[in-house]
Amino acid sequence: MSSGQLARELRAHPPSGERPPAFALVGSGELKRSHRAFLLLSSIVPALGVLAAIALSWRRAVGVSDLLLLALFYALCGFGISMGYHRLFSHRSFRARRPLKVALALFGTFAGHGPVIAWVAHHRKHHTFSDREGDPHSPYAFGSGSRLRALRGLWFAHIAWRFSENVKVDTFRYAPDLLRDRDLRFISRHFIAITIAGLLAPGAIALAIGGGLTGALYAILWAGVVRMFLGHHVTYSVNSLGHFIGPRRYATEDHSRNIWWLAIPTFGDSWHNNHHAFPTSAAHGLRRRELDISALAIGLCARLGLASDVVAIDERRLREKELRR
Ligand SMILES: [Zn+2]
Ligand SMILES: [Zn+2]
Repeated sequence: MSSGQLARELRAHPPSGERPPAFALVGSGELKRSHRAFLLLSSIVPALGVLAAIALSWRRAVGVSDLLLLALFYALCGFGISMGYHRLFSHRSFRARRPLKVALALFGTFAGHGPVIAWVAHHRKHHTFSDREGDPHSPYAFGSGSRLRALRGLWFAHIAWRFSENVKVDTFRYAPDLLRDRDLRFISRHFIAITIAGLLAPGAIALAIGGGLTGALYAILWAGVVRMFLGHHVTYSVNSLGHFIGPRRYATEDHSRNIWWLAIPTFGDSWHNNHHAFPTSAAHGLRRRELDISALAIGLCARLGLASDVVAIDERRLREKELRR
């Protein structure tokens, strides 16, 4: 959602002064202790899981079924974050039928980034203040005068901001439209249980296909915990490296960049300069050779009747914003 659209949304539906307790978990005030614990555990446990997986792989090589489940759950979460949390819920770059909307919100929650409503509020705030005072996760938060400051800024934008005051966000200001959606309120409120279900689901599949208890535990480790670690750091890289390295094609008021080598793991979200130039565009890869898996999936969903009103930017607007070389 652009800042203009957000302002129109706020004028049309001003947030009420009274804040229903049901929204407290994703509200603007103090984060609940459970949310703080989640932020800490969701950073530490996947890292420990990777170490455990490496240690265990000396004794038992990782199985094909573990890798297939890892790929499956990485893809589900990738679509949940890139197509759901980002392009659908944050920027309204297409409309989704209810089953697709709910599936994307659930798969995005499996990824372990926290409640969808809070994620969207952080992300819209990022677009409003990009690389300026108020941006929750800019790599320029400490200036750019020295290599040390740059490294500190990158670390902050990558993960440390989650443990700073910047993690508090006014969802009533930045995501009033989502707070009116019963499905998203329900999914946001139960995000911890849904995240745990996403970790355990590969184990249930392994049990169902006869992998036994050991197979289930390995599936949880690889397709649950290791998958979460990979997904986290790939998405975090868009916030850190996506404002730091790589070329810029479009004139934007921030430092956003395009990173081609992250295009596949981020499902297209690493065309980040393109995205900051045209935030409502359903496609982030704006040229034929800019692979964008989410844009392909949105196109497929539109053909299947699950999505509509897919926002596309015309050639003239694309050319107007292009930086002259
Ligand atoms: Zn950005
Ligand atoms: Zn965005």
